[in-house]
Amino acid sequence: MALIVQKYGGTSVGNPERIKNVARRVARFHAQGHQVVVVVSAMSGETNKLIALAKEVQASPDPRELDQVCATGEQVTIGLLSMALMDIGVPARSYTGGQVKVLTDNTFTKARILSIDDAPMRRDLDAGKVVVVAGFQGVDEDGNITTLGRGGSDTSGVALAAALKADECQIYTDVDGVYTTDPRVVPEARKLDTITFEEMLEMASLGSKVLQIRSVEFAGKYKVKLRVLSSFQDEGEGTLITVEEDKNMEQPIISGIAFNRDEAKLTILGVPDKPGIAYHILGAIADANIDVDMIVQNVGHDGATDFSFTVNRGEYAKAKGILEKVKADLGAREVTGDNKICKVSAVGVGMRSHPGVASRMFKALADEGINIQMISTSEIKISVVLDEKYLELAVRVLHRTFGLDQAV
Ligand code: ADP
Ligand code: ASP
Ligand code: MG
Repeated sequence: MALIVQKYGGTSVGNPERIKNVARRVARFHAQGHQVVVVVSAMSGETNKLIALAKEVQASPDPRELDQVCATGEQVTIGLLSMALMDIGVPARSYTGGQVKVLTDNTFTKARILSIDDAPMRRDLDAGKVVVVAGFQGVDEDGNITTLGRGGSDTSGVALAAALKADECQIYTDVDGVYTTDPRVVPEARKLDTITFEEMLEMASLGSKVLQIRSVEFAGKYKVKLRVLSSFQDEGEGTLITVEEDKNMEQPIISGIAFNRDEAKLTILGVPDKPGIAYHILGAIADANIDVDMIVQNVGHDGATDFSFTVNRGEYAKAKGILEKVKADLGAREVTGDNKICKVSAVGVGMRSHPGVASRMFKALADEGINIQMISTSEIKISVVLDEKYLELAVRVLHRTFGLDQAV
């Protein structure tokens, strides 16, 4: 008998028939004698609808109130799934994040989990019940409802698995595992049987939304056995996220291509080239709770320099407003920006031992006439910022260049 946490995403619970289908899968595990905790997302499209609704009422929704609104999506699915389970004779009980309780900090819309009380869930599990928990949501110490950021149900699932010391956390979604790149963009993408935590962390942080990045961080930190599988297929082992590289196999140089359409680039031109400038610019951005991704500072000329960075596209206008103020403070020349960019990255632990990966990547892009606007590298990834119109082309070309296409 094992304790298994299963997380089902929005498409997997997208209509009553699919919810009943999930109930049947859960029932099979339950019938085999396993203890099952199920974490569910809102029905597909629901969270987007709730956010749009909020924006119709208040252009920039108050974060606390937005969380009140958004958390309702998951509250619907936990109730429905519990009913579907009871209907086929499986005892079940649903919990909101607050009822569990999933304690978070009070950073509304992107709260972090601080602790989880596993006692109520254990009582139910020991009594033979399936426990159904709302993903994406928690509660702060003052009892306010919080949410964990888009895609946050993955993190709920892994965090519950960590708290319960579950034998496995299974992420059921609408693809049958982690692929070499998004199979919706490159049909030749291949499913990976395993991927290392390190690579998955990079893939997730560089835009592969199959797993929310925090869920991978959590799984790595608490040694949760994590697997991505399809909720629409009964067969298949999915993709196991592993700690170790497979020592028996020749490690591919590149394991996957990730991309992100949600980026925007900002540049502040003609800032004084002196100590403290980066802090002055990025400190103001950080104070507004805006995450900065790539950062580039040019070599100075005549006592001045230019500074560029990227942020999430949704925070572009806010970041630009802050930079205008910084410009006035510093006596900088100009603030420019572009919110029609994308970031494409090649990821692989194999590149540590293979020089020349960057030049292969740049040549492949140059051969297609694609201009690179920014570059950033680490030991296991190379990212480039491009005009968003080149996204699909760049991903396909790099996928082919690094030999990731399915053998035909
Ligand atoms: P869920 O609603 O189940 O959480 P998501 O839409 O968040 O599902 O994540 C699954 C989607 O992630 C897939 O439909 C796929 O388009 C996308 N995706 C992006 N990159 C990858 C990848 N490397 N491997 C598999 N899926 C990917
Ligand atoms: N429903 C939330 C979202 O759409 C959380 C999730 O699906 O993981 O972002
Ligand atoms: Mg998701």
